[in-house]
Parts: sequence; C-alpha cells; structure tokens
Amino acid sequence: MAQVAISKVAKAFGTVKVLHEVSVDIADGQFVVLVGPSGCGKSTLLRMVAGLETVSAGTIAIGDRVVNHLPPAKRDIAMVFQNYALYPHKTVEQNMAFALKLRKTDPAVVAERVKRAADILDLNPYLKRYPRQLSGGQRQRVAMGRAIVRNPQVFLFDEPLSNLDAKLRVQMRTEIKELHQRLKTTTIYVTHDQIEAMTMADKIVVMRDGRIEQVGAPLELFDRPANLFVAGFIGSPS
Ligand code: ADP
Ligand code: MG
Repeated sequence: MAQVAISKVAKAFGTVKVLHEVSVDIADGQFVVLVGPSGCGKSTLLRMVAGLETVSAGTIAIGDRVVNHLPPAKRDIAMVFQNYALYPHKTVEQNMAFALKLRKTDPAVVAERVKRAADILDLNPYLKRYPRQLSGGQRQRVAMGRAIVRNPQVFLFDEPLSNLDAKLRVQMRTEIKELHQRLKTTTIYVTHDQIEAMTMADKIVVMRDGRIEQVGAPLELFDRPANLFVAGFIGSPS
C-alpha cells in the first residue's frame, strides 16, 4: 500500500484550474521529488497533502486514511518551508519543542525528542541561541529539527534550500539525504531545480502547467524522457 496516495486530485482557485487530475503514489520510506517550472502547481499540491489548501476534486490518502477533510494537525505530517518560519523570539531549543508542547506532550518526551534531533542535526552548540544569531544553514537545520521532533509519517519540503547560497545548497542536499537514509521517513520534496531532483530523488514527478509529464527514477527520466519537455528540463543545468 502506498504511504501517500494522491488520486485524480484537482485544484481550482475560483475559475482558474491550476491542477488537473494529478495522481501520484508514494511508497513507505520513498523520497519523491516534485519538480517543474515556477507556477506549475508544485506548492499547491504539497499544501493539499499538508492540509493547508482544500482539495477541489479527487482524494489524498496518508497510510490507510483519506485525509481530504482532516486539519493539518491530524495528518501525521511535518512540513519544512522555504522561509523556515522559525519563531524569532524563541531559542533553537524552544523552536524545536514548541509543536510538541502545544500538543501537551510529556515534558520528558519533549526533552528526549529535542535532544535526539539536536544530535542528528549537530545543533547542540546552538540550543540557547535565537534564529537571528544563526547562519542560513543553521536555520534550515532548526526548521528540519522542528519537523523531526514530531516523528511524523511523512515529511513535506517546499524548496527548503532556495534561500541558501550555492555552496551551502549542495551541502544541505547531502545532509537531507543522509537524514532520510537514517530515518527512512517517507518524503515529498518540492523544487524547481533539476539538479536537486536528480541527486536526491528515489522517484521524480515532473510537472508542467498543473499536469504530470512523467514519473520515474532519475536515470529513467534521463535515459528515456517521455517528451521534449522532460528531455529539456531534466537535461539542462539550472
Ligand atoms: P509552484 O509551486 O510550482 O511555483 P504554485 O503551486 O505556487 O506553483 O502555483 C500554481 C498556480 O496557482 C500559479 O499560477 C499560482 O499563481 C496559482 N496560485 C497559487 N496559490 C493561489 C491562490 N491562493 N490563489 C490564486 N491562485 C493561486
Ligand atoms: Mg512553489
């Protein structure tokens, strides 16, 4: 069974259709990258999986539950955004603990989960700092820490590296992959960067204008692109 099943999902904002019956199955533990030009509907699709956007038609299932009408907090997902969305007046430690405290998690469990995330992400030296006292890469790690502490079934990333410089982007790519190899959490990762898609994905979903052009492993898309769009998009450096 797919861990995340997106079946004939469509989205319209008013009369404007931005997604047309999109279907994607994501297996347990898989790292799937949604890639495509700006405006093709990647974020909208991800936000529907997260519950931040309503679904106009079709179904989204996580595990064995259809989640179309569940609020984000009940979906067992954690999302990492492009702008990190850290709380400026909370320390690194407090940023990571906050979502758990809101859910009235046992303080001992909160402490243990924060410690584990800090260990995994090398954040121990920064626990008492505030976001403004961190570098871009460190902030990105805190944003990932906030996702990890929740032990979700699914991680959702929306262009998490686009605010970082080129060198750091490459480094964080590796870190996110290592994190995935360690935790094996099912992941949907959105990017418009084909190099990121090619180097990170188990499976790539190439989108254009609210439709899926092709789904496949990175080398499959490279060797056997379904059409000129995929060939051009996957073949060209960003
Ligand atoms: P991507 O993430 O691939 O760049 P988006 O999912 O953000 O694309 O946007 C897909 C399309 O939907 C774009 O044309 C965008 O302008 C439109 N769109 C996104 N959010 C809204 C909204 N809240 N209201 C109206 N149109 C939207
Ligand atoms: Mg987007």
